[in-house]
Amino acid sequence: MNAPLVIGNWKMHGGQSECLALARAVLKGLKKGPCRADVALAPPFTALGTVGNAIRRSKIKLAAQNCHWDERGAFTGEVSPLMIKELDCEFVIIGHSERRHIFGESDEMIARKLATANAQGLRPVLCVGETLAERRHKLTFKIITRQLRSALKGLAKDAIEKLEIAYEPVWAIGTGQNATLAQVDQVHQQIRKYLTTSFGSAIGNGVRIVYGGSVKPENANELAALKEVNGLLVGGASLKAETFLPIVRSFN
Ligand code: PEP
Repeated sequence: MNAPLVIGNWKMHGGQSECLALARAVLKGLKKGPCRADVALAPPFTALGTVGNAIRRSKIKLAAQNCHWDERGAFTGEVSPLMIKELDCEFVIIGHSERRHIFGESDEMIARKLATANAQGLRPVLCVGETLAERRHKLTFKIITRQLRSALKGLAKDAIEKLEIAYEPVWAIGTGQNATLAQVDQVHQQIRKYLTTSFGSAIGNGVRIVYGGSVKPENANELAALKEVNGLLVGGASLKAETFLPIVRSFN
C-alpha cells in the first residue's frame, strides 16, 4: 500500500490569484514539518495551469475535478483528459456526488470517463457513495456495489491497480454532518472485500480507499487512525491552509 493520499477539492472556488495564494500557503506550510501523506490539490480548471506551475518540483500533485469521456469532439463546455494531462495533472476526480446528483452523470458516463482517463495515463479517483434515503432504506452497500461494478467492469487489472477509490456518503458532503467512525469503517471494509473478491488480493490490498464528507481538523485524526482509511478527500476545509494542513498531517 502506498502512503495515504489527501486531496483538497476546491470545487468552484477561487480565481487564479486566490488559488495561487492558497497553493503557496499549502506549500509553505508543508515545508514546516514532516508529512507522511501524499498531497494533491484540485483547483478549478481555470487555475490548473497557475497552481501546477506553483507546485512543480514539490511533493504536491495536481488533480482535476472532472474530465470528459472523449479525447476531443463537439462537446461545448467540456474538458478533455488530454487537456488536463497537458497541464501536468496526475489525478482526476471522477463520479463526485455533485457530478452524479447535480449534473446527472450516470454510471455509464462515469465508466467511460474512468476508462479514457486511465488510457491517458491519469490516475482516476473514483467517488462512490449513497444518499441519505438509500442509507435509511439499508441500501448503502447495494448502491456502492452497483457504482463499483459499473465503473470497473471494462477496466483491465493493471488499470484498476492504479485507481483510488473515495467513499463519500452524499449526505455528509458539504453538510457538516459526519459519518460515524463505525459507518466509515464498515463501508471501507466492504469496499475492500468487494475488490479482493472480484479482482484478487493484490488489487484488494493495494488500492487506496479514501474517505470524504465534512472532514475537518477536529475529526481528521480519528478518521486517519482507521486501518481501512487510506486517505481523505477534503472539500470545504481545503479552502484554507490553516484547516487543510492539520488534516494532511493527521496521518503523521
Ligand atoms: C468533497 O468535495 O468531496 C467533500 C467531501 O466536501 P466537504 O469536505 O466539504 O464535505
